Amino acid sequence: MRYRTLGQTGLRVSEIGFGTIPILKGDVPVLPDYYNLDDDEAIALLCQALECGINLFDTAVVPEYGDAEIKLGRFARQAGRERLIISDKARFFTGDEIYAAVCRSVENLGGIHPDVYFVHQADPEHDIFSPGGALDALVWCREEGKIGFTGVATHYYDLLERAVRDPRVDVVQGSGNLLERGMLDRMIQDTRFTRKGFLLNKVYAAGVLPGFFTENELLGNVLCYPISSALVGMGTAGQLAAALAGAARPAPKLTFEQVLSRLRTVYDPIPCDRCQRCVCPYGTEPHILLRQMNYFFLGKDYWALRKLDLDIARTAAQCRRCPDAACRKNCPRSLRIPEYIQEAERLVEQYIYHGWI
Ligand code: SF4
Ligand code: SF4
Repeated sequence: MRYRTLGQTGLRVSEIGFGTIPILKGDVPVLPDYYNLDDDEAIALLCQALECGINLFDTAVVPEYGDAEIKLGRFARQAGRERLIISDKARFFTGDEIYAAVCRSVENLGGIHPDVYFVHQADPEHDIFSPGGALDALVWCREEGKIGFTGVATHYYDLLERAVRDPRVDVVQGSGNLLERGMLDRMIQDTRFTRKGFLLNKVYAAGVLPGFFTENELLGNVLCYPISSALVGMGTAGQLAAALAGAARPAPKLTFEQVLSRLRTVYDPIPCDRCQRCVCPYGTEPHILLRQMNYFFLGKDYWALRKLDLDIARTAAQCRRCPDAACRKNCPRSLRIPEYIQEAERLVEQYIYHGWI
């Protein structure tokens, strides 16, 4: 296992980090590959990962990742707290809420203080940066020793960019993979990202990509970027072994066209790399809609459709009235975004309202 420095925290983290969603127990049907592991099974797998050199374990406050945080705490106490780095998070956006979440996480972890704590899924609707907001609360937690370092986790490039400019933030967490590489390509042009430390999630695209690419390819195509660690969800010894093998022998970078042509064996994917340059003045987020369409046809039908369904009728109507399709002008790939959004509406109508799924 190779290790990288987590920005200015100085922590040395394994190139692949253990994502704990698959070890949770519970009924969370939208999540990929979860196996209802009981405590002993989960801890055995976590121990195996640690023995193989993985020292970074990423989780979230209960119940975001079911009971994974509690299992991770038990494992850390059993294996030796000092041997591992715990990255934890909570999807709360006010100071009071995130402060309370940190306290709950410490309790769930059995008194262990996470090394890094993220505001999870930060989005443009919630201002986490304002005085007294979520970020300030994490700074207080850091000063009080409740956490080691502060973090912002988000799927939005603009928020990541804002976070790396903010001196209160120690680590950022974003998403990307060999298909959705647009943010990574933007990120490498800005050295502030490497100074902060960067954890990358969605490396397997919610389980969509392993059907088309080997772990060597999936990991090789993200470890070639200056990230600190690629987080991989693992729920079985087989998945752990495959990820370890992939990280040990990362494949050379595929071109975007090579990635698309592999996916074309089942479906002609929308050639969107999720760079997020297509800003819509009316609040639509084409990068999310286009991703969900790709995921739908690549096998995540139920989950992808439900996400597409959120307000798609209003969004598609707005696009039909849109005077200038500014989103399209900003797309470096000149994708026909408004037409794709109409297709998304038809897809939802056919599959959800006409009961095709
Ligand atoms: S539609 Fe174009 S601009 Fe928008 S995320 Fe995709 S590639 Fe980037
Ligand atoms: S067509 Fe207009 S309304 Fe639709 S996403 Fe593009 S800019 Fe936004």
